Amino acid sequence: MCGIFGIYNHPEAASLVYLGLHGLQHRGQEGSGIVSTDGSKLYSKKGMGLVSEIFKDDNFSRLKGNSAIGHNRYSTYGESIIENVQPVVVNFAMGSLALAHNGNLVNASFLRSELEAYGSIFQSTIDSEVIVHLIAISKERTIMDRLIEALKKLKGAYSLLILTEKEMIGVRDAYGFRPLSLGEIDGSYVLSSETSAFELIGARFIRDIAPGEVVVINENGLTSYMPFDKTSEAFCIFEHIYFARPDSYIFGESVNIIRKKMGVELAKESSVDADIVIPVPDSGTPAAMGFAEGSGIPFDNGLIRSHYVGRTFIVPKQSTRNFGVRLKLNPVKEVLKGKRVVVVDDSIVRGTTSKKIVTMIREAGASEVHMRIASPPVKYSCFYGIDTPTRRELIASRMNVEDIGKQLTSDTLAYLSIEGMLKAVSNPPEKYCVACFNGEYPIPFSDDEINQLGLFDVK
Ligand code: AMP
Repeated sequence: MCGIFGIYNHPEAASLVYLGLHGLQHRGQEGSGIVSTDGSKLYSKKGMGLVSEIFKDDNFSRLKGNSAIGHNRYSTYGESIIENVQPVVVNFAMGSLALAHNGNLVNASFLRSELEAYGSIFQSTIDSEVIVHLIAISKERTIMDRLIEALKKLKGAYSLLILTEKEMIGVRDAYGFRPLSLGEIDGSYVLSSETSAFELIGARFIRDIAPGEVVVINENGLTSYMPFDKTSEAFCIFEHIYFARPDSYIFGESVNIIRKKMGVELAKESSVDADIVIPVPDSGTPAAMGFAEGSGIPFDNGLIRSHYVGRTFIVPKQSTRNFGVRLKLNPVKEVLKGKRVVVVDDSIVRGTTSKKIVTMIREAGASEVHMRIASPPVKYSCFYGIDTPTRRELIASRMNVEDIGKQLTSDTLAYLSIEGMLKAVSNPPEKYCVACFNGEYPIPFSDDEINQLGLFDVK
């Protein structure tokens, strides 16, 4: 996860990045940071918590200058501590540099050990810090050459923003796992993880940064480089299923439309006699609307979500997560009483949320509860930026669908098939990473990485 947002040469740079990060809050809620530059120095402000909690009037004015980048953190690697909040800022032989990373590096531990043996001293435990060390130790003469040398050593998923005193650089890895889009406001370039954040600041979407593209934005305008060998794309399908906001366009397509189509496909595959279709809000809502459309069963709001608590799953401790479900959702008894209910959610990861939801709906008087999931069973961990760290935590890696249904206490349970999911997207199926469903990881792992990542560690 994580959200990144940057703007080059705008008089209100830091304020616009603040708003942009606010529009990307769903991508990470643990901490945020903004780094700005006035052309001679970098200025940084970081904190733990939500964007609106960190940036206040009294600390905003110190983010001087016309260019800035920002980051919302969601931990996939490294602890939840202030040292791990990005952008990472360093001073090195060529000046200062700030870096914001969305994604996950598979070979970070290996690179870190090598760098430490070489003398590098790390300030954080995040994988992203290895990138700045690789840039700092490079013998190349320009930042761009140093960056490209560093990027060629990385294995994994990365959409990056880099800010120096003179330029802003945007990078998307050759597979294009994570999104990164280019926009424009008042003649200034903007880069964002999602297009919905452009709308929030009134920017115009120009295009997606291409997989493997590096864009350098400076006083000469925008220059695009394609420094990597061509490889097949591996767009993260989970961006469409869960992560991105429905009002964004990701990998060239409307998230809302794809989620609805996934619901329609699910209804085609696994319809059931029922009285109402309800979503698990908010992430299940478009798919539930699609399911209602595809099945002809009326849609209603049977669960109400409090918007004053964060996404439960994002809190990295199991104890807090359990509590979070009760804080977040409440059933509408008048809608559910005596009804055969189809409840649609976007995904099941650990299964903790779904079980509580089924129980809640039954206690509210539903006569039957049919769970429908608008994605296939998540059986494999993601190593490219999604928080599904060990296979043993994924309920579908330990149990088959029938047993999961029993565990959730639903009358029936059905997931969308991988084929059905891929029918909902317009890009050719081979352009997507679906490793969390089928275990086919786009980047081959070395034996060391398999041990280190606990790749096949189910028990
Ligand atoms: P659970 O099965 O209890 O782990 O929770 C699954 C719910 O969390 C799903 O309904 C999604 O809405 C949401 N979810 C799915 N994947 C993730 C993720 N990687 N990070 C945060 N939330 C997620």
